[in-house]
Amino acid sequence: MNILLVEDEEKLARFLELELLHEGYRVDKAFDGREGLEKAEQGKYDLLLLDIMLPGINGLEVLRRIRKNSDLPVIMLTARDAVMDKVTGLDMGADDYITKPFSIEELLARIRVTLRRQNTRKAQESLLSCADLTVDVSRRIVIRSGREIELTGREFSLLQYFLENKTIVLTREQLLEKVWGYAYMGETNVVDVYVRYLRGKIDDPFDKKLLHTVRGVGYVLREGP
Ligand code: CA
Repeated sequence: MNILLVEDEEKLARFLELELLHEGYRVDKAFDGREGLEKAEQGKYDLLLLDIMLPGINGLEVLRRIRKNSDLPVIMLTARDAVMDKVTGLDMGADDYITKPFSIEELLARIRVTLRRQNTRKAQESLLSCADLTVDVSRRIVIRSGREIELTGREFSLLQYFLENKTIVLTREQLLEKVWGYAYMGETNVVDVYVRYLRGKIDDPFDKKLLHTVRGVGYVLREGP
């Protein structure tokens, strides 16, 4: 796990860095808001520890800019009496805050909670489903009625596209372009072949059919007929 620490008090930054390294995290430091923002925007971190009172751009502004296009987990480091900063920071999308002075144990606990929450969020985002069929996209696992189903790479991509467009009727040309990645050249038979393979695995062994043919148009994945 890569942590970016943006903190202008160098002694504190150095102390935190050593503790985090000791816990097995990798740590990068920045000592002002501008440098912190530049590093955060490289997108290679799993968590940002962000001091609010910073030279250059302050922490709240750094947070505001990061949140425009990133859900990077952020824990703010705030001064004891800066209630407004905490409220504003949380409103602006910080995941948590910790008030100085804090114990390293408390900070480590909050880091673990924040990272765990982010993992859960990511895992949920990668789940697609239709009726009793569930696909975990990131782990490439397909399960129907509690039974794991093995698909080839192409079958998996086809199923994923159907699930992402659940209840929408898709033409063979669309499927060919999106799943195979080439434009329509009259060879849409391949789509029919793969839909048949896919049905053999996700539908045929089960009573309820999910992948339907829409005559004259294409195919649709949905619960109903
Ligand atoms: Ca500071």
